[in-house]
Amino acid sequence: MYYFGNDPFFLLIIVTLGLSLLAQWKVQSTYARYAKVAAARGLAAEEVARQILSHYGVSIPIQQVAGNLTDHYDPRRKTLNLSSGVYGSRSIAAYGIAAHEAGHAIQHAKAYSPLMFRNWFYPVAALGSNLGPWLFIIGIFAGVAQLIDLGIIFFAAAVIFSIVTLPVEFDASRRAISALRSDAYLSTTELRGAKNVLDAAALTYVAATLMAVLQFVRLLFLRNSRRN
Ligand SMILES: [Zn+2]
Repeated sequence: MYYFGNDPFFLLIIVTLGLSLLAQWKVQSTYARYAKVAAARGLAAEEVARQILSHYGVSIPIQQVAGNLTDHYDPRRKTLNLSSGVYGSRSIAAYGIAAHEAGHAIQHAKAYSPLMFRNWFYPVAALGSNLGPWLFIIGIFAGVAQLIDLGIIFFAAAVIFSIVTLPVEFDASRRAISALRSDAYLSTTELRGAKNVLDAAALTYVAATLMAVLQFVRLLFLRNSRRN
């Protein structure tokens, strides 16, 4: 019989959950802090993204989307989407985020392999993360070992996706900082603020990956322990 007491992963999962909440709080607070600091350059973040893209010969639409920190590059539609708080903003935080999303568009234009793999793999991973846990649970209750294994394989796809996301995110931030520095959009001091925002965002991806790996190892553990 399964109960939390004999699950050595329970405590680890609570700790990782705490880490992920902490990372989310850190993003919000770091963003709020540097969203109040105006960049001396005085351009809107949308214009910064446009100039960075054109520097790399990338010509795609830049749109404004609703929500807080909903900024993303859409690889299917090839559009750069900046949240309303970032789009017209002249803050250091907005520069960092806009340049990071431009970094993803440049990755795509240059066929950066982790991004290409991630785009190709996305449908498999989405199916895996939705179906995997259900197959596993049904397998456990119905006592069908094949379903349990299938659930684990499906879930593995989601874990792989989460791991591949890390180099893609780190690389986009690296490109962002380098573009903001080389074309002097931000001074050295300002750059530190933008980097803090991007580092905090990267931490949320690390926490999410840690959680996915942990859950995967836990599923393997539960699978093996019910055989004994
Ligand atoms: Zn990103």
